[in-house]
Amino acid sequence: MTLSIRNIIPIIKANWFGNNDISIIDTISIDSRTLQNGKHTLFFAISGPNHDGHQYIEELISQGVQNFVVTHFDENLKSKANFLVVENTLEALQKFAAFYRNQFDFPIIGITGSNGKTIVKEWLNFLLSPDYNIIRSPKSYNSQVGVPLSIVAINEKHNLGIFEAGISLKNEMEKLQKIIDPTIGVLTNIGSAHDEGFADIGEKIKEKLKLFTSVKVLILNKNRTICAFVNPKIKQFNWSSDDKSADVFVTKKKLDEITELNITYQEETFPVRIPFQDQASVENAIHCLMVMLYFGYNQKVIQTRMTQLYPVEMRLKVKNGIFNCTIIDDSYSSDFQSLKIALDFLEHQKQHKKKTIILSDIFQSGLTNEELYPQVSQLIISNKITRVIGIGETISKFKNKFINGICFKNVNEFIAAFDPETSKLNFENETILIKGARDFHFEEIVSLLEEKTHETVLEINLNAISHNLNFFKSKLAPKTKLMVMVKAFGYGNGGFEIAKLLEHHKVDYLGVAFADEGISLKNGGISVPIMVLNPETTSFSSIIQHQLEPEIYSIKGLKAFLKIAEQKKLKHFPIHIKLDTGMHRLGFQENNLLELIKTLQGNETVKVKSILSHMATSDDLAHQAFAISQIELFENLSSQLISALKTKPIRHILNTSGISNYPEAQYDMVRLGIGLYGVSNDDEEQKYLENVGTLKSVISQIRTIEKGESVGYGRRFMAEKQTKVATIPIGYADGISRHLGNGVGYVIINQKKAIILGSVCMDMLMVDVTDIECKEGNTVIIFGERPTVNEIAKLLQTIPYEVLTSISQRVKRIFYRE
Ligand SMILES: *Cc1c(COP(=O)(O)O)cnc(C)c1O
Repeated sequence: MTLSIRNIIPIIKANWFGNNDISIIDTISIDSRTLQNGKHTLFFAISGPNHDGHQYIEELISQGVQNFVVTHFDENLKSKANFLVVENTLEALQKFAAFYRNQFDFPIIGITGSNGKTIVKEWLNFLLSPDYNIIRSPKSYNSQVGVPLSIVAINEKHNLGIFEAGISLKNEMEKLQKIIDPTIGVLTNIGSAHDEGFADIGEKIKEKLKLFTSVKVLILNKNRTICAFVNPKIKQFNWSSDDKSADVFVTKKKLDEITELNITYQEETFPVRIPFQDQASVENAIHCLMVMLYFGYNQKVIQTRMTQLYPVEMRLKVKNGIFNCTIIDDSYSSDFQSLKIALDFLEHQKQHKKKTIILSDIFQSGLTNEELYPQVSQLIISNKITRVIGIGETISKFKNKFINGICFKNVNEFIAAFDPETSKLNFENETILIKGARDFHFEEIVSLLEEKTHETVLEINLNAISHNLNFFKSKLAPKTKLMVMVKAFGYGNGGFEIAKLLEHHKVDYLGVAFADEGISLKNGGISVPIMVLNPETTSFSSIIQHQLEPEIYSIKGLKAFLKIAEQKKLKHFPIHIKLDTGMHRLGFQENNLLELIKTLQGNETVKVKSILSHMATSDDLAHQAFAISQIELFENLSSQLISALKTKPIRHILNTSGISNYPEAQYDMVRLGIGLYGVSNDDEEQKYLENVGTLKSVISQIRTIEKGESVGYGRRFMAEKQTKVATIPIGYADGISRHLGNGVGYVIINQKKAIILGSVCMDMLMVDVTDIECKEGNTVIIFGERPTVNEIAKLLQTIPYEVLTSISQRVKRIFYRE
């Protein structure tokens, strides 16, 4: 892409302010973190309800960006950059992408449906890439923002595009259609996902079909409900397993671990084997096979390539590595687009200064190697990667392009050179991004560098955290500041990683319970101000040293803090005054107020940064009158304090349920806790939150016991009939309450409930899998989407807070982004 600002202005109908409209653009960005080529980047300042790209403009200018699409700008910056002013920056980005798409006329496959879009896209890429230079949307970039960003990555060398479109509301698809403008449509399975935005299934189908208004052919499963909505003028190429009049008739037979499809097409019948048995994968594979048939591939090629389909891993996972390393596992793909995303993700992981990337040859950029590798090198340099380990014949040839580059022909050579004791290939205290195309089998490198963990893990979805944060932000007045509570290891979910994410989202404060929690965040490089709720007198010194901000809740505590602060000759050190308005836990009461004022008046050592109180019943409307009395007392006491001290501190009283139930008491800030982690005590609100943590394990062993036999300690389960029992390596030492034993609790295996049999042991528990098709090694869900933490809390007659924070530290946390 080489367009100048002058070319772009009419495309997006902008008003131009600036000094250099011949500035050349070759990169589009909406995210200040993924800056790669500052000077030639056009930054679209996208503003949503919760995030505003305009906030980053000054910072970006200082990094060399000169071109911005904005709705407004600061006059003072006018001489420093070009501003293209539009009414709506997202629409401008979409218009630009639609224009850009129009410059190319090779076939483009557009995929939509409720499930399977990303898998079908990735598989098609795999199946067709031997013959085409493919551009595809990276990961699951299928939204109003993701689609235009994917489209602007097309270049002259590509000759086939594969893009997915995802919608959750009415009227979104039309926009995506204009941008992708697919020539070949693929409709995957229509299920119940994202139903909220649509009145009924008919409306949803109609909306999805809008992607295909100008395709030459639409590939789909011949299904009466759906076909009734398809415009009869659109040429269909359909398949069915029960309607022989379909273009392609498919029968399926399960063999050992695989499925054999029998394909009847144009009077010929031939078998195709695929390495899956579950219905969703089989359906997705058939859609891919249909595209191959449409492209005119012969039986042999189809048969060979389809047997090689593989499970698609769409997540970037963060794992603990050996020698205190952190591993980002992206060992399933290697193309330029997804490399950008992975490097962006790496940028979030600031635990370690040193960063290494292990990278395979890169495929399907559409560029020649001579064009590609210098670009890759540039990308790596701008992301400040300390060391590059290239693996592959091609990347090895470009070794000198990489600073600190070491290359190996293949994974085996790398493994041979790797000896944790002696080799020059040492890994220690660093973040390692492992990114390789599937054929390179980088999973072997991951397993080499990964710290060996138990099979039980708590997977944390970072996207869901962002989603929940935005949900609560949307309930706040624009001026209300946000403190997020990350105490107790982020409610059991992980301290540092979550703090890092919150820092990016520009929350105003973090809250921890004790000083050591705050210190470890500061040591990790978190720079958002941190309030310590319960600072012990013994920790005052280190609180000061680490620039943490104590909550002060008693005269005694205040005097002790002042004493140390005066010794250190501090000036205006920020403190937070806690008022007790009825919780009766910590805080100054009305009768301490005079002494508090006397001590603080004229004091220059500390500065009251905020005044807060905490509600006892914000979650329970039965106690509404009490809650209101707390708010009133807070108003009264804090006002007295403010007028006596002549300061303007931040006032805050609401926690998560307070935000929902008493929005009028937002004051200047709120303190979000459990809601961020995806749990609400309100069923209606719960629907809007996304699940954050999934506690997973595996089946260690399966056995069948006879009637009259027992399971576990104390023989507390007695089989009344023949029973299939599965053992799972998670127990009360991991935080699974013993009260879930003896039929109270259950886990999910292959989407079915498996009741806990007998007592929960320290490190294991047993469940009933009599009616569940499963085998050893299968995944077990302890909580997540189902059962939810809320559900488990109810079974235990406790609150979700306790369930979450009980998960012991021996359970490894794995963070991922979709
Ligand atoms: C934990 C805590 C919060 C957050 O409460 P949630 O109910 O999790 O939102 C807010 N304020 C104080 C003082 C807390 O201790």
